[in-house]
Amino acid sequence: MAVYSSVDREALHVKLADEAHWIGEAPARESYLRIDRLVEAAVRSGCGAVHPGYGFLAESEAFAEACGRSGLVFIGPSPSAIGLMGSKIASREAVLRAGVPVVPGSEGPVTSVREVTRLSERLGLPLLIKASAGGGGKGMRIVARSEEVDSALRAARDEAESSFGDATVYVEKYIPRPRHIEVQILADGFGNAIHLGERECSVQRRHQKLVEESPSPAVDARFRKELGAAALAVARAAGYVNAGTVEFLVDAAGEPADWRFYFLEMNTRLQVEHPVTELVSGVDLVREQIRIAAGLPLDLAQSDVDLRGSAIECRIYAEDPARDFMPSPGRLTSLREPSGPGIRCDSGVSAGDVVPFEYDPLIAKLVAYGRDRDQAIRRMKRALREYRVGGVRTTIPFFQRLLNDAEFLAGRLHTGLIDANRDKLLLESAAEVEEVAVLAAALAQMTERPVRPPDGRRPSRWRELGGRRPW
Ligand code: ADP
Repeated sequence: MAVYSSVDREALHVKLADEAHWIGEAPARESYLRIDRLVEAAVRSGCGAVHPGYGFLAESEAFAEACGRSGLVFIGPSPSAIGLMGSKIASREAVLRAGVPVVPGSEGPVTSVREVTRLSERLGLPLLIKASAGGGGKGMRIVARSEEVDSALRAARDEAESSFGDATVYVEKYIPRPRHIEVQILADGFGNAIHLGERECSVQRRHQKLVEESPSPAVDARFRKELGAAALAVARAAGYVNAGTVEFLVDAAGEPADWRFYFLEMNTRLQVEHPVTELVSGVDLVREQIRIAAGLPLDLAQSDVDLRGSAIECRIYAEDPARDFMPSPGRLTSLREPSGPGIRCDSGVSAGDVVPFEYDPLIAKLVAYGRDRDQAIRRMKRALREYRVGGVRTTIPFFQRLLNDAEFLAGRLHTGLIDANRDKLLLESAAEVEEVAVLAAALAQMTERPVRPPDGRRPSRWRELGGRRPW
């Protein structure tokens, strides 16, 4: 059973569902964020459980609670675990008590310029002011110089208030060129918990992920064990049950032996990037989520986890990379999705669909699996070449450049990689423009039937080109 808003009447998930219920108008706050309507639709249609997906209310304590009150099983952790991890300040405290390092920063919320200035004397600059209720990279401001404290504090608080309805902010030391590495965990209601290795999510724009891989090219067996143990300690501290992700920021300056990792936050839901873990572990994470929610024990132990090969995911967004990833909603005039060995395309659209401007313009997740990173990348490149999306701009050309970039291929990743290589990765190069122009000219020549010159006139190349002259 699925739900939909007015613009999603024809959406793929509606076509695939046995039964679909309308829950409101296009703006999310009138439909997908309406707890009352979602619960009412679930109860009315006789649902036993609700899977919240990974957007909208997937990390809402109030939604999990409302499901419980109405006799619906929420396929996710308890409302209290969602609540604890929904506050970055509260979760930092809980994690520190469990003995896991957090990014050095303020002990609680900060409200005044004086507090931030005093922290900058202790921790040094740059600092990062962050929204406690933050998500999606919103409500974050870097302070590089002491004169910026006032404006950064104000901007972070304003954005936190407008995005999350909570202006509470705190401070972390800003780690330059860090890696974002996260660990997938599964925990059942019987005290069993396992981790399924890490995902490297350092390729980001606006502090949001674009490419994810498992394993991370930077993590060896010893580091994986350390990260896994820390992630499970965090899960235990939260009394966590179901699937979850513990995110770490890795300060990868210097030799690997000097690298430090810090808890960043815990996502109390399935992640967009879960397929890469599924491919290397062979574990169906959604099946495990449903089993755990049904009160069954985990059906594998840590020693059964056998991570093999390498997987990479590219998020196919209707966005224009040449315009700073501006959304490019609209009708998909044509669509051909790739397939073949090692390729998985988790798609939410079909040809003729409209990518609505009201929601996040993610249209598919393209995932490639190989025996090693090199093969996974080569398969991904092949799949990207096959992918055809007409009518909207997409992130596909950006991935094609990224997957040929020497730093990326060498696995030297950090969260500022795109910003540091904007010209190379985002803009169409002169060579690409020229290639298209040459192809167009050649095609025009080939398809044109020679035109015989009228009697007595000299043949002309221009005349032979006929109506294509303006090209
Ligand atoms: P959100 O909940 O909004 O996603 P996170 O705390 O998970 O916020 O951080 C998102 C991204 O922001 C990280 O992956 C990283 O790129 C950047 N970031 C967050 N904290 C820091 C920090 N202290 N230093 C450097 N970069 C950071």
